[in-house]
Amino acid sequence: MKNTRNVKKYSFENIDFINSAFLVLTPILLLIFGALWIEIEGFNITVVAFSVITYILSGISITAGYHRLFAHKTYDSHPVVKILFLIFGATAFQNSVLKWASDHRQHHSKVDTNDDPYNINEGFFFAHMGWILLEKNSHVKERYAKDMMKDKLIMWQHNNYLAIAVVFGVILPIAICYLLTGGLYGAIAACLFRIVFVHHCTFFINSLCHCFGSRPYTDTNTAKDNWFMAFLTFGEGYHNFHHFFQTDFRNGIRWYHFDPTKWLINILSWARLASNLKVTSAKRILDAKLSMSIKRIENKSIFNQYQTEFDEIKLKIMEAFKEIENFKNELKTKKSNLDKLSLKLAKLKVQEAKKVLRIQLVLWQLSIQKVEQNYA
Ligand SMILES: [Zn+2]
Ligand SMILES: [Zn+2]
Repeated sequence: MKNTRNVKKYSFENIDFINSAFLVLTPILLLIFGALWIEIEGFNITVVAFSVITYILSGISITAGYHRLFAHKTYDSHPVVKILFLIFGATAFQNSVLKWASDHRQHHSKVDTNDDPYNINEGFFFAHMGWILLEKNSHVKERYAKDMMKDKLIMWQHNNYLAIAVVFGVILPIAICYLLTGGLYGAIAACLFRIVFVHHCTFFINSLCHCFGSRPYTDTNTAKDNWFMAFLTFGEGYHNFHHFFQTDFRNGIRWYHFDPTKWLINILSWARLASNLKVTSAKRILDAKLSMSIKRIENKSIFNQYQTEFDEIKLKIMEAFKEIENFKNELKTKKSNLDKLSLKLAKLKVQEAKKVLRIQLVLWQLSIQKVEQNYA
């Protein structure tokens, strides 16, 4: 962790009173209107369902839209999908995507330094929401948003952000929920629930995911993988992976990783509404993981004795990987021309290479354990 001096002060001239009032009042109003709803109108499951559905629409428009589509360009999308993300993203009240993405790109580029807009080294509260309270006179950083400024849809949302947010994020949801349930307090509570919960779940990525969790891919920054946070953030909790491979449309790379944003992008792709989904090669990911496991033990005195062993195993792992990829490509390109026996042989070769890979990975783990235990 880099040592940085606290440069942002919560002083009168730095505080943005509109942002602060909004962030402080919305949870208080949620408690008040939630109580009024239960007390006067009575619990109604439709209000709960409406709150959850609008929470999902708003939250996933931030993760799949603001974050993975606009800020990182991890895939291309149909203009209709873009418009929907811009509208529902605005209902999260996290500013226009132009401002949001320029801050976020700066976060990636300057992570953990004084130039990081939500620098965790300035404290948990600052990274979580303190930085928004100090947003006075903040503006879109052109150097991080030049490409986005050429996009007409993005600029339309930026220039009409407040109107879109108020109409689609306040007036319409309250009106629809009121028409469905007949209760105004419940409708207002549902609207406030969405705003408050999407706010803090997004903020947790900048605070909790830079504090708690594991660092399987890199320790060059404070970003952590945290499966629990993935549940609250539509899959964004795999933050260590994301910081290292930010152009990947996935954050949770395994099939069992909870990453609904990735699943939505896959569904959009199957429906031909998204294309050019960017994926980091499995070889690069494994390479990063192996390097990190070595980094954790290389300061131990006995490590030097094992250096050659690690180099040899890594070489075999990478060779096996290459073979699997080659055989798979061969199968893909020549499948129709191969006779039955040649096809069987190619498949057996893939299985064989996978077996070698598994054995070498176990050997790798054993060697790591040996270094750790000998040291103790
Ligand atoms: Zn990001
Ligand atoms: Zn981060």
